[in-house]
Amino acid sequence: MTKHIFITGGVVSSLGKGITAASIAMLLKQRGYKVQMQKLDPYLNVDPGTMSPFQHGEVYVTEDGAETDLDLGHYERFADIQCKQGSNFTTGRIYSNVISKERQGGYLGGTVQVIPHITNEIKDAITSMDSPENDIVITELGGTAGDIESLPFLEAIRQYRHEVGFENAVSIHLTLVPYIKAAGEMKTKPSQQSVGLLREIGIIPEMLVCRCERPLEDEHRDKLSLFCNIKKQYVIEEMDVPHSIYEVPLELMKENLDTLLLDLLKLPQRPIDIQEWKDMVKTVINPDNDVVEIAVIGKYISLQDAYKSIYEALTHGGIANAVKVKIKMVEAEDLESKDVAELLLGVNGILVPGGFGDRGVLGKINAVQYARENKIPFLGICLGMQCAVIEFARNVCDMKDANSAEFNPSTTYPVIDLMEEQKTITAKGGTMRLGAYPCNIKSDTKTSTAYSSLDIQERHRHRYEFNSEWAEKLEKNGLIISGLSPDGKLVEVVELADHPWFVACQFHPEFKSTPLHAHPLFKDFVKAAHEV
Ligand code: GLN
Repeated sequence: MTKHIFITGGVVSSLGKGITAASIAMLLKQRGYKVQMQKLDPYLNVDPGTMSPFQHGEVYVTEDGAETDLDLGHYERFADIQCKQGSNFTTGRIYSNVISKERQGGYLGGTVQVIPHITNEIKDAITSMDSPENDIVITELGGTAGDIESLPFLEAIRQYRHEVGFENAVSIHLTLVPYIKAAGEMKTKPSQQSVGLLREIGIIPEMLVCRCERPLEDEHRDKLSLFCNIKKQYVIEEMDVPHSIYEVPLELMKENLDTLLLDLLKLPQRPIDIQEWKDMVKTVINPDNDVVEIAVIGKYISLQDAYKSIYEALTHGGIANAVKVKIKMVEAEDLESKDVAELLLGVNGILVPGGFGDRGVLGKINAVQYARENKIPFLGICLGMQCAVIEFARNVCDMKDANSAEFNPSTTYPVIDLMEEQKTITAKGGTMRLGAYPCNIKSDTKTSTAYSSLDIQERHRHRYEFNSEWAEKLEKNGLIISGLSPDGKLVEVVELADHPWFVACQFHPEFKSTPLHAHPLFKDFVKAAHEV
């Protein structure tokens, strides 16, 4: 039987619930359990695919093509698992399922209501993860206890726990224990009140994980235990970590969180295999590491979460090369109005990530040109690859108004064009080319060296692609097509010969990078940036 762990949050948002959930998954997996993850998001969008990164941060894409919350990226990176379509449900998706059943007469004339129909649908989403493949499923509920929109999810979790028994469905509540400077004290009251809110709904968590800036004293643990109805040893401290989020699992392990959870779930204790992770953390925080500076040119650069997986993958590239990657976030539009050389002066590598719409595109193209002409290692991803192709056409092949049809449908040289299969699609949600597709790599290229393989599989999220009509002309001028779809129709990777390291791919390698296994392209990109 699959056991479940539910993680709710209280007091404030941004407590790092996703990282906590991911850390727990990692610890249980390293104790030999098969772990799968799920995120329930109380907003009304069916998925985050149509939301602006300014609203929601990065849209993470799973192997099977789900457009999901960025927390799934943490889950995959920490626990080295693959999330699935069923790993992210929103209120919108739940309601949409219920309403479509209603339209098909699925409720046989009944009145369709939040309870039981919506809550049943949520329970179905939870149990859709039950399988012999999963010993433990960790479900994180987005939002904060007390939010109106979380109520149906909490009610569904309460019912589910009641039905299967608490030893099969443990509840963890993550709260904040703030330090109040004026009083010189840490305060447990917000946590007490937050657990009180859950208790009103009928959920008494078995474990309290307390985010704090300073260590919990014995008296805090006593108070939290007594007033939150939680056994003292199940009050877990999760202090801010000084250097890296990858330290979090090690901190939680010191509090015995993983062994306590296995006790609660009545699962046998097993030894933990954690040395590789500890060594990795040591590498991350080693102060003697050389520093490599990488400029990331984005249009959502002011928001830390918008390029989460890119930043993490760069960190992984650093770990693999035992260097520290310092990221210079550059606003793409600044490269249109200000001096490009001045803004990019001294950087060791330039990365242009994915994006949509033409704001900042010229700045990205200017950055590509700077990297190409000054022989600075360059990695282009999705829109970044499209910009690299446009730049090459304009400035090397003399195709002056070369562009993507996304930005100028009447260009003489649409070197990037809408994919054939996209031409009849008008709906926006979930309709891009999504998820993993195979790709054949050309031998003796930088790409083949990075992968040490000629057959790869990478994740996509796009509507436009390299227009093969212009392939010959661009290749004659020195562009190397180093990755193609197996039918030879779609150009997936391009690179330059006369350059230390210039690789641009249509897919998103950042989604498959983990701290223990840096993605090959990130690893070689950082390596090249370190060497140049
Ligand atoms: N806007 C481009 C396209 O749809 C690039 C997408 C992306 O970078 N994810 O093809």
